[in-house]
Amino acid sequence: METKPTVLIVDDAPANIQLLAGLLKDSYQLKVANGGLRCIELAQTDPQPDLVLLDIQMPDMDGYQVCQYLKGQESTRQIPVIFVTAKDQVADEELGLSLGAVDYITKPYSPAIVEARIATHITLKQQSDELRHFAMHDQLTGLYNRHFLIDVARKKISQSHRHKQALCLMMIDIDHFKVVNDEHGHSVGDAVLREIASIFMRQSRSEDIVARFGGEEFVILLDNCDLVTGGNKAEKLRAALQSSGAQGLKITASFGLAQLNPNDGGFRHLLTRADEALYKAKSEGRNRVELLS
Ligand code: GH3
Ligand code: MG
Ligand code: MG
Repeated sequence: METKPTVLIVDDAPANIQLLAGLLKDSYQLKVANGGLRCIELAQTDPQPDLVLLDIQMPDMDGYQVCQYLKGQESTRQIPVIFVTAKDQVADEELGLSLGAVDYITKPYSPAIVEARIATHITLKQQSDELRHFAMHDQLTGLYNRHFLIDVARKKISQSHRHKQALCLMMIDIDHFKVVNDEHGHSVGDAVLREIASIFMRQSRSEDIVARFGGEEFVILLDNCDLVTGGNKAEKLRAALQSSGAQGLKITASFGLAQLNPNDGGFRHLLTRADEALYKAKSEGRNRVELLS
């Protein structure tokens, strides 16, 4: 079953909330806030709303301030805001739109027009969510893609340098994967990659960044993790993969790990060392873990 999009209605007057809720309750999952502070709280709570309908005149924090706050926060700026208000002066609307609202509806409103505008902005929001998702994820496995990994790695590396925290990068390359394709076909190869991805996901902490780096290469970025702990994790993954029997085949992988050191300028340095470790794992027989500090 497809879940309905979530709309957050924000108004200090219960009668206004009821009017909008009556109009929208069949098509959307509704959340309700009776003031600006509550709105901000709910906008940051899962499931995040796909749209906020925002009154302007409210006692605790006015709608303009709320909109400005939501647009200023990384975690909420992608949520479209529509003002629904009795303030019908052009200057009011100009201000509302200049703060990043996608639309401005004055009361009294036509229910059909309100419904249509909401539907349009929900559709746009869903399309941009989808684009954002595909920009960050690999289509075959659903893991993060290389582009996203590099982006996050840069941030985590500078954080780790700043807070003097350990950080490890694990590079994984499936052994003799070309043979899997050659002997069983490309679609079996694809299914193996998907199974491997789900093993990596199951075995990882939520803060680990698990990415498909390229064809049959994966990278796991482990923050707050030193080389010894990272090596143990890699060993667990290696064993899990070996015993998984993905697609009824004997699949193994080689693992190279490197830890961020204070002289590392950036991601490239760390990646190069993990790659060197991986090369060593390959040349020393595959299906093994090698570490490089
Ligand atoms: P090694 O142990 O040295 O890593 O050997 P290998 O065969 O795994 O390495 P090689 O780099 O020679 O081959 C990688 C293979 O991975 C070749 C390529 O066709 C396959 N591959 C890359 N991406 C995909 C994909 O998306 N799907 C499938 N099915 N195969 C892929
Ligand atoms: Mg390879
Ligand atoms: Mg390989």
